Formats: sequence, structure tokens, C-alpha cells
Amino acid sequence: MKTIIIGAGMAGLSAARILVQNGHNVAVLDKSRGVGGRMSTRTIDMAKADHGAQYFSVKTPEFQELISELQFENIAAEWHLAQRENVRYVGTKGMNSIPKKMASTLNVLVNEKVISIENNIAKTESGNEYDFDNLIITIPIPQVIELFRNSKIKFSHNDKNVLRKIEYEPCIAVMAVLKQPTEIVSGGIILENQPVAWIADNFQKGITETPTLTIHASAKYSAEHFDDDLQEVAKDMLSSVNQYINLKNIVTFQTHRWKFSNAIKRYEKPFYQVENLPIYLAGDGFGLGNVEGAFLSGYYLGMNL
Ligand SMILES: Cc1cc2nc3c(=O)[nH]c(=O)nc-3n(C[C@H](O)[C@H](O)[C@H](O)COP(=O)(O)OP(=O)(O)OC[C@H]3O[C@@H](n4cnc5c(N)ncnc54)[C@H](O)[C@@H]3O)c2cc1C
Repeated sequence: MKTIIIGAGMAGLSAARILVQNGHNVAVLDKSRGVGGRMSTRTIDMAKADHGAQYFSVKTPEFQELISELQFENIAAEWHLAQRENVRYVGTKGMNSIPKKMASTLNVLVNEKVISIENNIAKTESGNEYDFDNLIITIPIPQVIELFRNSKIKFSHNDKNVLRKIEYEPCIAVMAVLKQPTEIVSGGIILENQPVAWIADNFQKGITETPTLTIHASAKYSAEHFDDDLQEVAKDMLSSVNQYINLKNIVTFQTHRWKFSNAIKRYEKPFYQVENLPIYLAGDGFGLGNVEGAFLSGYYLGMNL
């Protein structure tokens, strides 16, 4: 069976691992330069900052098995946040080190943006064509809808009922390089009812030798300011948290708009087959959500094909 997977984030890589183990012929296509999707680590000169997912929880034995292997290989580690009792996990060299490791034994083709699907062939922007028996799509649902529109594939009534259940929230991220690490207790602070929802000290987290911060705006603030000038938005966010950060300690900063950060409303099952087509939808919009939910979505889809 030849399976093409669109998206080399946690869901796509998780599905690919299981399918390869079960003897399928699998290729994973991703539009970006690297793998990992929203498990993303940015390099700014000598500094590194996780700017998508910050940590993840492990609640299920399926995910625990992978994370224990990665802990053994020093790719993943525990992170204890002072404000939370449950243990969190991170990539030891940044969150992106986890998908990178998962992808290392798979056939992943990057810089391959799928722009249309026609008669069991996925066509990419570069002009390549990939034929498939099964197609797995792990990109956020609004992007799936656009891809289907460009492919002139119509969703059935049932398909539409499933897809309309899934919603994501936006997030504006600021990554700031510092002269010195902060004194933020345990390296991370969760804030409530403020423009900023999260501050992480990536040096204390252990992923960078040059100190950096990651600051995430709340979903409400991100939605209200999504299309504003990001330099001004970043300054506003930074000054709103000056009780935690000495602004004179900032050397430089970068920003990022995540249109789809967390799937806040999800389809209850871990994946969905588009009616009458060999096309399967997976990702964090299905099941548990977040990094673990994306893993389980790919895992259960892989087990069922
Ligand atoms: C700011 C932020 C903070 C977060 N914080 C946390 C957290 O602390 N804990 C947690 O557990 N989760 C967190 N999340 C959510 C978590 O990152 C996601 O739930 C999870 O990584 C989703 O994985 P996925 O495989 O479903 O999707 P993605 O990671 O989005 O993967 C989809 C992939 O598809 C590719 N793609 C898109 N369109 C195409 C196309 N047309 N052709 C080819 N490739 C394409 C993309 O490049 C991407 O690599 C956060 C996310 C963000 C953005």
C-alpha cells in the first residue's frame, strides 16, 4: 500500500512510524524547510527559542512508550513548572529535536507544498506529483478546506458536520534574546487575564546557551491584534510584563503570528475518513488535542490502515 502523508508535524510523523512498522510504503510531504510543524525551535544568531509548543504532557501508555525511548536517548526530558503539579516534557535541544528524531528514519520530503489532489495524485508547488492508495492529511482544517476547494473536491454533508466542530485559537509569539537569564522561578510563568499568557526562559529550560525568552500572547489579545504591526504589538506585550523582565536586558527580539495554535474545539474521534474517498484527516483537531493528541491521532490512524 502506498501512503502519502501531508504534514511532517507530530501527527504526520506518528502515523508514518506506525505505517512503516506495518510494512507500508510511506512518503511524508511538508511545505516547510524542516519537520515538526508547530513543535518549532527558532535560532536567532547563537540563541535558540521554542516558539510554538512549549512543553507537553504524557497521559497515555502509547505516548509514554515513545517519550521513554526519547528520554533514554536524551532527546526528551522532564520539565517541572513551579505552578503545575504534573510533570511536563520538553525536547532537550528544543521542542523541534523530538520531531527531528522521529523523522530521521522516515522518507520525509520538505519544501513540498501540496496544492491540489486529483485522481489519487497529490500535486505540489514544485511541480512534483505523488500517487497514492491512501492519503493522510494532518494540516489544520481551514487549510484542508482550502486544499479541497483548489482540488475541486466536494465535502459531503457528514464531512461538513465533522469539520465544522474543529476550531483553533491564534497566538502571537515574541522571542527575545537577553544579555542575562531571568530569575523566573523554574523558567516558566503561566499568566491569566492579561495580554501575555506565558513567559518561558529558554536558558533555564536548558535548550540554549545564549539566554532567550519566549512570550505568548493570550488568545484574546492575539485575536484582537493579529493584523496589527507586530513590532508595536511586541513592545506592548513586553512592557506589560516588565515586572518579570528587565526590558534593558533585551538585546533583540523577533515575532511570529500563529494563526492556528491550539485546537480548542475538536472532533471527538482520533481521525476521520472523508466520505467515499481514500483520504484520512488527522492532527490535533482530532481527539485529545495538543502534542499528545496529535501523536495519538496519527498513531490510531496508522494502526487502522
Ligand atoms: C504558540 C503555540 C503554543 C503551543 N503550546 C503547546 C503546549 O505548550 N503544549 C502542547 O501540548 N501543545 C502546544 N501547542 C499545540 C501543538 O504544537 C500542536 O497541537 C501540535 O504540534 C500539532 O501537531 P500536528 O501534527 O497536528 O500539526 P502541525 O504541527 O501544524 O503539522 C502540520 C504540518 O503540515 C505542514 N503543511 C501545512 N500545509 C501543507 C501543505 N499544503 N503541504 C505540505 N505540508 C503542509 C506544516 O508545515 C506542518 O509542518 C502549541 C502550539 C502553538 C502554535
